[in-house]
Amino acid sequence: MKILDGKSLSELIKKEIQSEVASIVASGKKAPHLAAILVGTDGASETYVGSKVKTCGEIGFGSTLIRYDSSVTESELLEKIHEINSNPEIDGLIVQSPLPRHISFEKVTETIHPSKDVDGFHPVNSGRLMQGKPSFVAATPKGIITLLDRYGIETSGKKCVVIGRSNIVGMPMSILMARNSKPGNATVTICHSKTSDLKSYCLEADIIIAALGKPGFLKGDHVKEGAVVVDVGITRVADATKKSGFRLQGDIDFDEVAPKCSWITPVPGGVGPMTIVGLLQNTLMASKKEILF
Ligand code: NAP
Repeated sequence: MKILDGKSLSELIKKEIQSEVASIVASGKKAPHLAAILVGTDGASETYVGSKVKTCGEIGFGSTLIRYDSSVTESELLEKIHEINSNPEIDGLIVQSPLPRHISFEKVTETIHPSKDVDGFHPVNSGRLMQGKPSFVAATPKGIITLLDRYGIETSGKKCVVIGRSNIVGMPMSILMARNSKPGNATVTICHSKTSDLKSYCLEADIIIAALGKPGFLKGDHVKEGAVVVDVGITRVADATKKSGFRLQGDIDFDEVAPKCSWITPVPGGVGPMTIVGLLQNTLMASKKEILF
C-alpha cells in the first residue's frame, strides 16, 4: 500500500504557483487576488477560510476577507457580491458555506459572476463541465484529479465508484472521472443514500472515491485487493485527547482498508490540502482570464 500524499504534493504545487506569480508581478502585472466572504462564526468555516487566506499570502496572491455577522440580510450580501463582480482588482470570489438559513446558497452562488466563480459552483460552470467545455471546476474534485494525475494513477478503462452525489463533490467528481480526458475515461458508478447493496459496487471497483460524510463508513470488506481509494470525508469527531476536543475523520476505515489498497489518501493530509490547491489554480486561471465567458 502506498500513500497518495496530498500534503507534500500540495506544497510542491504551491511552490510552482508561487514562482508563476512572481513572474507575473515581475512583468508589471498585478498578482491574482481572491476575495472570501465569511458569514457568522462557525468554527470549521473560520478554519477553512483562515487557511485559504493564509495560503494566498504565502504564495504571493492578494486576498480580502469580508466578514459578516450571521444577522446580515440576503440583499446586503448579494449587493456585496455585485460590487465584487465589478471590481477589476478582485479575480475570484468564494462565499464560505454553510450560510444562515435565511440566506439562499443558490441565490448567492448564482449572483457570483461565472468568471469570478473560483469555487466552480455557478450553474454556468457546472454546465460547461458537463459539456466538456472550459470551466472552473469545484476545488475538491479538481484537487483529486490533480492528485491522481501527478501520481500517475491510471484511470482509463477502470471501474470507478463515487460515493456521494452532491453538487460540490460527488457529481463533478463523477463527470471528471468519466470524461474523455486524462485522467478520465473511467466507467463510473455513482452511489448515494438510496443505493441498495452498495458493497457489491465497491467490491467491483478499481477506484473508489468516498464523499459521503459518514466517518469510517467504508470497511475492509467493501474493497477489493489492489484498489485505489480516495477519502474525501472530513468529519469532526469528538476526541478528548486533542487540545481542540476533536479530530478529523474520513469516510474510510483506514486501518481496515489500507492493507488491501494499492494507493490510499490519508485524513488529514490527503484531499484537504489538494482542495486548497484547486482553489489557488482556479484563482490563477481567473486572473489570467484563461476562460472566456
Ligand atoms: P453532502 O452534500 O452531505 O453529500 C453527501 C452525499 O453522500 C449525498 O449524495 C448522500 O446521498 C450520500 N450519502 C450519505 N449517506 C450515505 C450512505 N450511507 N451511503 C451512500 N451514500 C450516502 O456532502 P458533501 O458536501 O458532498 O461532502 C461529503 C464529505 O466530504 C463531507 O465529509 C465533507 O465534509 C467532505 N468534504 C471534504 C472536503 C475536503 O477538502 N477534504 C471538501 C468538501 C467536502 P443522497 O444524495 O441520497 O442524500
